[in-house]
Amino acid sequence: MNKHYRYRRRRGRGVYISPLPLLAVGALAVVLGVFLVSRALGGAEPESPDGAQPPEPPVSQDGGGADRPRQLTTASGIACTLTELGEEAVYTGDLILVNNWTPFHFPADQASQLMCVLENKSGSYYVRDATVYLLPQALDALNRMLDDFQSQGGSKSVNVVAGHRTAEFQQHLFDQSVERNGQEHAEKYVAKPGGSEHHTGLVVDFSLFYSDGSSAEYNGSGEYAWINANCRNYGYVVRYETGKEALTGIWDEPWHFRYIGVPHAAQAAEQGLCLEEYIDYLKQFPFEGEHLTIQCAEGTYEAWYTRGTEVYLPDSGEYAVSGNNVDGVIVTCKIG
Ligand SMILES: [Zn+2]
Repeated sequence: MNKHYRYRRRRGRGVYISPLPLLAVGALAVVLGVFLVSRALGGAEPESPDGAQPPEPPVSQDGGGADRPRQLTTASGIACTLTELGEEAVYTGDLILVNNWTPFHFPADQASQLMCVLENKSGSYYVRDATVYLLPQALDALNRMLDDFQSQGGSKSVNVVAGHRTAEFQQHLFDQSVERNGQEHAEKYVAKPGGSEHHTGLVVDFSLFYSDGSSAEYNGSGEYAWINANCRNYGYVVRYETGKEALTGIWDEPWHFRYIGVPHAAQAAEQGLCLEEYIDYLKQFPFEGEHLTIQCAEGTYEAWYTRGTEVYLPDSGEYAVSGNNVDGVIVTCKIG
């Protein structure tokens, strides 16, 4: 086994090794041996999300000591190297799931990445004021989506009324809703601080603002149905839809759009899955198993999920890494 080799490599040469760690390693080897024997005898298999065949060879995905080759090539020919990304990788990226049960991990450097929508928007829509901020990828996609909406005949009436929110502001919104409509209403419609996707900087809320100065709620119907139907081509999903309330915890909100990137927005919409379901769905595609292939407006992508943060990353080419904010990381690689 490579166990001994790894041990020596970590300790280096010529260093006195106390017998206690050696005993621990010995005990570990016995436990591992029992585990392997129990597997060979048909013992309980590690859980597999979809009942598919377990990965082969058996691989620990928690970085807990199983030896995984440093270099591997995917079935489609992508050469990859095993890379430790660090714990924060689980909590950052375009695919992170945020809801009242899966709170956002506020990164220290987020403010420096956010961009003012008013200062960087195209001319095809309005924004409430200079306090609306987004991450660059969400803002760029928003500009392109609403430019194309206008090009295909849509009116300039979409008003972006919300983007990034701080925890303090979300608390204020929640308290305000309780005050105005009661606790039950607030819990149905307003996320608690930490539980709002708006913290991510990847979310916009639309309202409507007409040239005569009047305004209305955005409901995604009429000419705006184009936006709700096509947002996937720009990386956005309609996050809260009827029928998914028990999963998302939020009632139907046709004005709330979440950026998750084009390939995954296309796949989630195609499968009819809300983000809670989609994050589970992606677990069917571990690196060691069959990968997900996505055909979308931007080309063809291959994606895989890894539990933990020790992840196979492509050695070259265009790829994105995102945590799921739950337990692992998704790698999405452009292949055509
Ligand atoms: Zn919203």
